[in-house]
Amino acid sequence: MSKELKPRSEMDPKYQWKLEDIFATPQAFEDELAAVGKMGDEIAAGSGHVAEDPKKYIRTYFAVLERIEKLFSYAMMAHDSDGSDGTYTAWLGRVQTVAVNAEAAGSYLTPELLAMPEEQLKALMGEPDMQDYTVFIDEVLRNRAHTLPAEQEQLLAMASDSLSAPHSAFSMLSDVELPFPLVPDEDGGEVRLSHGKYQALLRSRTRGVREAAFKGMHKTYGDFGGTIAALYSGSVKRHVFNARVRHYGSALESALEPDQVPVSVYENLLKEVDEALPTLNRYLEIRKRLLKVDDLHLYDLYVPMIEGVDLPMTYEDACALVLDALKPLGKEYADVLRRAFSEGWIDVYENKAKRSGAYSNGVYGVHPYVLLNFENNLDSASTLAHELGHTMHSYFSDRTQPYPKAGYSLFVAEVASTCNEVLMNRYLQQKYKDQPEMLKYLLNDLLESFRTTVIRQTMFAAFEKKSHEMAERGEALTKESLSEAYLELNKHYYGGACHVDDEIAWEWMRIPHFYRDFYVYKYATSFSAAVTIADRILKEGEPAVQDHLRFLSLGGSVPPIEALKTDGVDMSSPAPVHRAMQVFAETVDQLEKLL
Ligand SMILES: [Zn+2]
Repeated sequence: MSKELKPRSEMDPKYQWKLEDIFATPQAFEDELAAVGKMGDEIAAGSGHVAEDPKKYIRTYFAVLERIEKLFSYAMMAHDSDGSDGTYTAWLGRVQTVAVNAEAAGSYLTPELLAMPEEQLKALMGEPDMQDYTVFIDEVLRNRAHTLPAEQEQLLAMASDSLSAPHSAFSMLSDVELPFPLVPDEDGGEVRLSHGKYQALLRSRTRGVREAAFKGMHKTYGDFGGTIAALYSGSVKRHVFNARVRHYGSALESALEPDQVPVSVYENLLKEVDEALPTLNRYLEIRKRLLKVDDLHLYDLYVPMIEGVDLPMTYEDACALVLDALKPLGKEYADVLRRAFSEGWIDVYENKAKRSGAYSNGVYGVHPYVLLNFENNLDSASTLAHELGHTMHSYFSDRTQPYPKAGYSLFVAEVASTCNEVLMNRYLQQKYKDQPEMLKYLLNDLLESFRTTVIRQTMFAAFEKKSHEMAERGEALTKESLSEAYLELNKHYYGGACHVDDEIAWEWMRIPHFYRDFYVYKYATSFSAAVTIADRILKEGEPAVQDHLRFLSLGGSVPPIEALKTDGVDMSSPAPVHRAMQVFAETVDQLEKLL
């Protein structure tokens, strides 16, 4: 962009969020911060006394948490809207200090509850005035079997800092110290490879540029493969160690437990995607044809195979489009969307020192907020629909659930947002059904989401399962053994239609998510659930809409798998992923017909 960005003070307030809905004035924020700061002492005084009055200490803990969250949201969003304003930076720092102190003061609560007789905790769950806290108490009870005697817990806590060293060392190497080479750029010059540039270079129309970037990137990691394998091995072993000492059947089981997700969900995902690989091959054949290459390489997967269509739209157009596309969700949903547009929930345009990207943040007892950096195009409209999905999930959950039960699990966090994106894609397909170029673009967009969100993440999930099983069997995790396992997976997934380049064997070395054990599978399951829900809404109408609103209202009051069941999706069965893969196949059919 050639234009200088405007400072925040010169932006039209009409397009800014209204943080005064949280605190009417900065002074009100200051007063609340001081009041909550004092509560730290009150919480600290409870240490050693929980068993005397568990109700009181549980209530105090959540009351403080709720107030800190509000303070934090206010300071964080002010800071995100203008990082150059020192006042906001100072606010954020002071809220963090108060939060850390309160957390430290409250650290005795769970251990002291755990020390109480199980019958007493169970009885507590049945008390009428404790109904807001049953999810929390239930979690304490579930952790019981995996909690060690106090002395051993203390030892583990003391070791935890050094056990996380592999992850920090990997981040330092990968984000800061790794020496990337110069590679050819689009204009015949040279450019220093970086994580940011890599994405752009892989989308280059010049094949040599893509190839050099791909090889340069992976060779750089490969050169440090021994070091990275040692780091990754340390991270996996830490996970295996923690699972073993805490009496879990496997590292995978311990990772899924907090979401109460059975291992079969993970296994179903791997199996269903595996069976859909012939469809992936069909899709890649189309890509090969459209790119006019004899042999499709792995560095040809990201370049757009259909030229982007130019669909300029203002923010007002985008809001109208979102309302039209989400009309199937009914009147109540639309009414809340209109409030989001007109009542200062959304911070629309970029200004100087505003945080990049987009997010939605629910503030309990107020309303959710959305940060955008809106540009006048379809991509931004689609981001708006996505973020509003999060917003509606928070809105309905916060409105229905008490604070301790309102927050929803990561396992379902991307479902409502992705569902909106799918509904928007479907709506646009209908709207442009007589414009083949636009239609091709929309179909390709959907297919790429399937490939990158479901199929690629599932391949990652398969690798994680494999590496943890190797560690659990006592096999060495080395540069060679890990790269061989990763290459095999790539041959299995892409080998049918693609030339599997040798350098891909080192790709696992550059994926930071692998240090958050068994995390990426949630992208694939969320997307599958969202596709199933969106299609049901379009097909069945009102009953499906009511189910979806019920799901949005559940927050964290029931386990995520149960919550999705109310929305007609049983993730404990293979059906949703199977159905999603069918939709993937149908979309490939549609595109094939058009070409
Ligand atoms: Zn999201």
